[in-house]
Amino acid sequence: ESLINRIAAGEIIHRPASALKELIENSLDAGATSIRVTVKDGGLKLLQIQDNGCGIRKSDLPILAERFTTSKLSTFSDLSRISTYGFRGEALASMSHVSHLSVITKTRSETCAYRAHYMDGKLVPAQSGQTTEPKPCAGNDGTTITIENLFFNTPTRLSALRNTSEEYSRILDVLTKYAIHNPKISFVCKKAGSGSPDLNTPASSTIPQAVRMLYGQSVEKELLHTTVSSGDPKTPESWTSEAYFTNANYQSKKTIFLLFINHRLVESSRIKRAMEGVYHGVLPKGASPFMYLDLQIDPRSVDVNVHPTKKEVHFLNEEDITMKICDALQEKLAEKSQ
Ligand code: ADP
Ligand code: MG
Repeated sequence: ESLINRIAAGEIIHRPASALKELIENSLDAGATSIRVTVKDGGLKLLQIQDNGCGIRKSDLPILAERFTTSKLSTFSDLSRISTYGFRGEALASMSHVSHLSVITKTRSETCAYRAHYMDGKLVPAQSGQTTEPKPCAGNDGTTITIENLFFNTPTRLSALRNTSEEYSRILDVLTKYAIHNPKISFVCKKAGSGSPDLNTPASSTIPQAVRMLYGQSVEKELLHTTVSSGDPKTPESWTSEAYFTNANYQSKKTIFLLFINHRLVESSRIKRAMEGVYHGVLPKGASPFMYLDLQIDPRSVDVNVHPTKKEVHFLNEEDITMKICDALQEKLAEKSQ
């Protein structure tokens, strides 16, 4: 059974960066305004994320890493909406099957923090001979999740991830993208034991300020912005999209493409290629743009057959949405070049 669980976990957690993505989303869901990440060996030895969000109640700790434990649906009608994302309550459970997972957390109303350790979905003692009971400890309001020895029990997966600097740059890439999408939140990332962070964004920025900080002034100073929306509000067909993208003056060797659908970082080669296509007539051959897209669609129109952790997403009216966004992009680019 534990082997099956490990295989299933590997479907959700592919590498340190995909674990981090789930942890960031949990911190954002918890209302954090500060997210600090510490990494050792590309996240394989240590991946730690500290937030100042709402914390987890002590009474919720025993089942925290059980499959389908989630605080994110309270009523049945919620469930029928949210379930269209395909899954809930699987991230921490998965991590507990392929790493040593520990949690330190404190809610505003508790007087101290609690520390708990997990393996295979269940609480385990911090050291042999101790009880599994969460232990009181010092700690600030919020949650620190620590993932150690990721994939220690799946050697094939581990050996495929030997390049720790590659894994670290994927971690920075995920954080960079979430920092652009959440400019009001402060993100910090550093290697364990190193003094200066490799990524450090202040709270209360705007998207262009975040772009400037993370991708440089050369991107930020050529940014255009547009908003597109369509459909009757409250119907599954309605959607809105905000986009920031560079004009013809900005010419990169490689496309930078950030796509958030309902605040989840996803990939859609269809939208990416269609938008790149608009630039074909605008940029010289070999030059590529920066594009950031924040798309909000009705959760009911996300494809139920695609697991949300699978990178490529599909949704209702994909073609129509892609076309309208491309039209708006084209219009804006033409406006600028006049
Ligand atoms: P999901 O996010 O789909 O609910 P997860 O396995 O990612 O499932 O998390 C399980 C639950 O653990 C969440 O629903 C939430 O209640 C709690 N949780 C996880 N991370 C945090 C966090 N950083 N702050 C507060 N609660 C958290
Ligand atoms: Mg989650």
